[in-house]
Amino acid sequence: MALDDEKFMLEALAEAKKAFASAEVPVGAVLVYQDTIIGRGHNLVEQNQNAAHHAELICLQEGAKKLGNWRLLDCTLYCTLEPCPMCAGAMALFRIKRLVYGAPDLRHGANGTVFNVLNSPHPIHQVEVEGGCCAEQAKGLMKEFFGLRRKNGSIV
Ligand SMILES: [Zn+2]
Repeated sequence: MALDDEKFMLEALAEAKKAFASAEVPVGAVLVYQDTIIGRGHNLVEQNQNAAHHAELICLQEGAKKLGNWRLLDCTLYCTLEPCPMCAGAMALFRIKRLVYGAPDLRHGANGTVFNVLNSPHPIHQVEVEGGCCAEQAKGLMKEFFGLRRKNGSIV
């Protein structure tokens, strides 16, 4: 795990904390191109009542807009949680070079925890994947969030 990976993952964690603060499932992401963050995102599913407004999708779209190119060939996406099948599919379609994520997602993880999207051989584009970066912090946020929700009797 490169030093820079931790540095950028801390930025993704900061995004996740923003989600937490607005009662969203605490997932955050940043997109990095040539050592610069060109996209940021956190979960906005509740606020926008849109199940597609995951941190990663927001982040990828922002990055593509900034580069003026939907092919994010030299970009690395940092995400606090293993992506779901929708976001993992989007990463392949946006052709990012590399994904670094934190904790596994036991409900929707698409890097082998529940589904296999990113680790199936792809004829056009293979995303390099590395999990477990700052995993404890990402996991801690999720645990705290769902613990609070259960305590408050909300639907999980
Ligand atoms: Zn997702």
